[in-house]
Amino acid sequence: MLGPAHSAATYRIPARCRVEWQHARDRSPEIFPDLVFRQLFDAASSTYTYLLGDAGTRQAVIVDTVFEQHPRDHALVRELDLALVAVVDTHCHADHVTGAWLMQQTTGCRIGVSRRYQPPVEGADLTLDHGDRIAFGGRHLEVRATPGHTEGCLTLVLDDRSMAFTGDALLIRGAGRSDFQHGSARTLYRSITREIFSLPDACLVFPAHDYSGRTVSSVAEEKTHNPRIGGAADERDFVEFMENLNLPHPKQIDVALPANLRSGRPEDGKVPRPADWGPVRQTYAGLLEIEPEWVAEHLPQVHVLDVRQPQEMQESLGRIAGAQLVPLNELKARLGEIPKDRPVVAVCHAGMRSGQATVILRGGGLTRCANMRGGMLLWSQLGLPTERRSGGS
Ligand code: FE
Repeated sequence: MLGPAHSAATYRIPARCRVEWQHARDRSPEIFPDLVFRQLFDAASSTYTYLLGDAGTRQAVIVDTVFEQHPRDHALVRELDLALVAVVDTHCHADHVTGAWLMQQTTGCRIGVSRRYQPPVEGADLTLDHGDRIAFGGRHLEVRATPGHTEGCLTLVLDDRSMAFTGDALLIRGAGRSDFQHGSARTLYRSITREIFSLPDACLVFPAHDYSGRTVSSVAEEKTHNPRIGGAADERDFVEFMENLNLPHPKQIDVALPANLRSGRPEDGKVPRPADWGPVRQTYAGLLEIEPEWVAEHLPQVHVLDVRQPQEMQESLGRIAGAQLVPLNELKARLGEIPKDRPVVAVCHAGMRSGQATVILRGGGLTRCANMRGGMLLWSQLGLPTERRSGGS
């Protein structure tokens, strides 16, 4: 314990250290001491995506990505300062297109999938089978083959057996259908009982989907409560249950399967860009953002919309030459005053209010817009030119 001589006044932390400490705290996971772990959800396909990283080395693996959610997932990887080693699919999905190819294009990571698919999945450069390990930093995922839903289904087990990513083999209170894609209920029963139910009871079960809002279960919980394979259910009980599900044909299968056999590469082989007018990034919060340096270099090509209050124009940060001032609280009512011939860059003090401004702009049909990162604070820190005059234009 610190004595009186070690008061906060005596040991004031230098400003630089405070920033570094803050940064270090931001980078450390809040749930596990040495693991970065995030569970993400795609509402359109009810798919869970999992990001696992070594908190020390920052190497990471992402499991079961969704094509349309790539900007979100990539932003999270970037914001958590992670280096992706691999994007892995637990199986060749029929209900959504994987984001694997996109993630490889944007981060250079490897694409991992089972080597049991025939024909093999095009673009996969990390083909996996039972007993393989996917290492990320000092951690790894153990690969267990759990066929039955498809012939190439994998369950990925964290090195300390505290978590299992079961794909569509074992779902929370369910199991993946086995009536297409070379599925077999008998094989699935053996996969689940031998490879998943043999894990420690406390091992958490994270499936690829849930349609009822359930996020996590455990081996013990599923052994007891799973209505298809838990309790006293034997192989015959399970097979008869699964063979009488009478499920409709998956809506997306005709699009998703051919795309997933190419690791999600679009037919034109092009990475979709969020904007055609500048290097706009999507943040994890879903906001479109652009760097102040780019804005400074391209001022004649964009319309700068400053959403601060008029009195802020008089303060030390000044304003960007030619910026239109429309305070955020008036923006909705004054959308008609915003020119539509150029992309709009929204600006405020620190880049928060202008983020909200882009939401209002997009809602009003002005889709070619972005928030200037860091606002006028960063603009002035970067020494970019400003002018000072009374606001109101
Ligand atoms: Fe599936």
